[in-house]
Amino acid sequence: MSDKQTQLVELAGRLADQFAGRATEHDRANSFPFENIEALKQSGYSALVVPERHGGMGGDLLDFVLCQERLAQGCGATALAINMHLFGIGSMVERAAAQGRPEQGLFLDLIGKQRKIIGGGLSEPEGGGDWGLFATKARRDGEAYVLNGRKVFTSLSPVVDYFMVMATVEGEGPLSSATFAVGRTTPGLELVETWDAMGMRATASHDLILKDVRVPAAAMADPRPVGPLGTEAISLFAWFELSIAAVYTGVAIAAMNFTREFAQRYKPFTLERPINYLPGVQFAMAEAQTLAAQSRALYVSTARDYLENRESFAGEAGLARLITAKYAAVNNAVRIVDCCMEIAGAHGFLRRHPLERLFRDVRAGINHPLSNARAREFIGKVALGVPLGTTPRW
Ligand SMILES: Cc1cc2nc3c(=O)[nH]c(=O)nc-3n(C[C@H](O)[C@H](O)[C@H](O)COP(=O)(O)OP(=O)(O)OC[C@H]3O[C@@H](n4cnc5c(N)ncnc54)[C@H](O)[C@@H]3O)c2cc1C
Repeated sequence: MSDKQTQLVELAGRLADQFAGRATEHDRANSFPFENIEALKQSGYSALVVPERHGGMGGDLLDFVLCQERLAQGCGATALAINMHLFGIGSMVERAAAQGRPEQGLFLDLIGKQRKIIGGGLSEPEGGGDWGLFATKARRDGEAYVLNGRKVFTSLSPVVDYFMVMATVEGEGPLSSATFAVGRTTPGLELVETWDAMGMRATASHDLILKDVRVPAAAMADPRPVGPLGTEAISLFAWFELSIAAVYTGVAIAAMNFTREFAQRYKPFTLERPINYLPGVQFAMAEAQTLAAQSRALYVSTARDYLENRESFAGEAGLARLITAKYAAVNNAVRIVDCCMEIAGAHGFLRRHPLERLFRDVRAGINHPLSNARAREFIGKVALGVPLGTTPRW
């Protein structure tokens, strides 16, 4: 790791250690960790990927991935929530460098210097994790757009300053979609507190209803035709897939850390030594260790390749590489925590130990786009030379 990476990961570690002390309490109460978000803002972590000239820490994709892996070891829910803010900004910074639009600089000042928070606005009840086409509609009306629809899983919702709402743009030539930055106090925006989930409970991923929400035309960004896979989509997926891989691996590492310590100290009176001397325990830990090493090697090397040779990630084959890293890591993470549960026995089942929460949290990983089924289709088709748009699909 570079000196800068070491410093950033140390910061993530300090924050993670603070957050770990509150993770159980927020999980139990289904409450939102406002104090964690304040610490992320105060420390500069909420502007981790914003260039220094805009008040941020100038982290790149690899820095982001390494930091998120560490942060998630303290509180998976906080790491996932801030991921929904940071991945979009990271991709925006990457694309802003190419596009050179002045309003992007102003937006980055809001995030970097004023520590504003963005979030949510992709997933919908009608379309789940299909982030290509949106049931939420945007209609042009003079110098404004009018938005109508419902978003679900809006992580960070209690503290979002700008909701990044993705919508289908109606009546402007070929079918297209765009992102609209909608300020929290905009009339017509309603947050409905629906979030009561099995895991990642402290993300407050509530529903967001948009009813005749008017935003100035300048609030629209990234209009793109629906269908072809452009550089913008690849960039968003690079920042999303690799960071999601890291967050869930972080959750799995937390489970391994607890389990290692537990196995070293837990000694049934029938045994002469603690259970870490048992072959079954060693073999299960070996499996967990190996899977974690595989996941890390894949997403770290993919992030590094992406930074060094972005052009090689063009098209479906490039996207398949990013999806492969996420698919491998989130599934490995589930298996790692299962191995830890096996080692801890019924102790892992008890709510007084963190393993029970980690077991629930880690299960959310396979649901983030691309879900397991869609990832298998994507990776399989690319590997077999079948273009994604081929009809009939199967
Ligand atoms: C803790 C948590 C936090 C989240 N935070 C956010 C957030 O901040 N912002 C946000 O926008 N979203 C967020 N999400 C949403 C998430 O990233 C996914 O978009 C969402 O979980 C997908 O919903 P789904 O599984 O119900 O729907 P679907 O994607 O529809 O999947 C349901 C099932 O149908 C299958 N399926 C659906 N369509 C197809 C298809 N075309 N081909 C093959 N299989 C298909 C899937 O594989 C899956 O098995 C969050 C989710 C969680 C769990």
